[in-house]
Amino acid sequence: TALIESPSSLRLLSSPVRALSSSTETIRATLFPGDGIGPEIAESVKQVFNAAEVPIEWEEHFVGDKVDPRTESFLTWESLESVRQNKVGLKGPMATPIGKGHRSLNLTLRKELGLYANVRPCYSLPGYKTRYDDVNLVTIRENTEGEYSGLEHQVVRGVVESLKIITRQASLRVAEYAFHYAKAHGRKRVSAIHKANIMRKTDGLFLKCCREVAEKYPEITYEEVIIDNCCMMLVKNPALFDVLVMPNLYGDIISDLCAGLVGGLGLTPSCNIGEGGIALAEAVHGSAPDIAGKNLANPTALLLSSVMMLRHLGLNDKAERIHDAIIKTIAEGKYRTVDLGGTSSTTDFTKAVRDNL
Ligand code: NAD
Repeated sequence: TALIESPSSLRLLSSPVRALSSSTETIRATLFPGDGIGPEIAESVKQVFNAAEVPIEWEEHFVGDKVDPRTESFLTWESLESVRQNKVGLKGPMATPIGKGHRSLNLTLRKELGLYANVRPCYSLPGYKTRYDDVNLVTIRENTEGEYSGLEHQVVRGVVESLKIITRQASLRVAEYAFHYAKAHGRKRVSAIHKANIMRKTDGLFLKCCREVAEKYPEITYEEVIIDNCCMMLVKNPALFDVLVMPNLYGDIISDLCAGLVGGLGLTPSCNIGEGGIALAEAVHGSAPDIAGKNLANPTALLLSSVMMLRHLGLNDKAERIHDAIIKTIAEGKYRTVDLGGTSSTTDFTKAVRDNL
């Protein structure tokens, strides 16, 4: 089993951001190396791109050391402008202090760039054995609201309130993207994941919007699955699922569960789809502070995210070459990182991928 979609059908939006007009032209793309293991795995992508002669010119932006008042976070306005201009980019993980401190950099990015959908493909890697060999699903996560609206306050001492916002506009937009994606990639089923039996208003509205959109796509089977049941079904038989669309928090949790089905967070890529045709790819995982700076991180998830970016740009030959080299390296088994049961460092694995190009 492999990634089923053929390369040419893997664009994330209807049309590529930009077509190369000559073989010597380069495309500018924004790169956020990010925090923790981010710089190590970003370096891996840069090295593999260099070796594969990918015509990308990186515009690197770092998370700053003081808050930019224009963004209310450590991300500068200029770094956001870079993504707006280039419309395509790759992002390393960004750390957020737990329960205190500055606004999440990820939330700033999503809000400022209108990153409304997060596409998280998850598939069994040929040559890397887990309990399952037939996982091939895509989680599409609403990326702008739900419990991530950042609206939290203390009501009285000992009582806090956190608002879950669901709007018709954002729900229709992500549902439309999910069905459009399913149709464009020849996928047969869209499952809306929810807890509308309890969250009757919020998840109820989300489902209503999904149903509305589903009517426009009679060729795609539509179903609704309650999230707790969905978790059980995913662990028992992940092949039951094809495309899953869901509110923000559920998407965050379910996609980590899915990563666990195929070998862990070191393997799963994603791409954020934003207003005006923006595509910002990033790994599903976070900054992994426990292994940061130790040359232990698995760069596969970010490399596969960069492959999503290349397919989106229509650079299919480069995308397939890099994709195949990653799969071959993992399947050969000699250079696997520690999370996959191997002993290789990030740099050794990266070198092996380059050698397999
Ligand atoms: P995490 O994903 O960083 O790590 C979870 C576990 O998976 C750790 O044991 C880590 O070592 C391992 N892991 C993750 N990526 C790996 C890789 N590439 N190779 C090998 N092992 C890997 O999750 P966390 O520890 O809950 O979060 C750490 C920080 O990351 C937090 O500040 C959180 O807010 C942030 N975060 C950022 C993003 C993002 O930028 N999109 C996503 C999730 C978490």
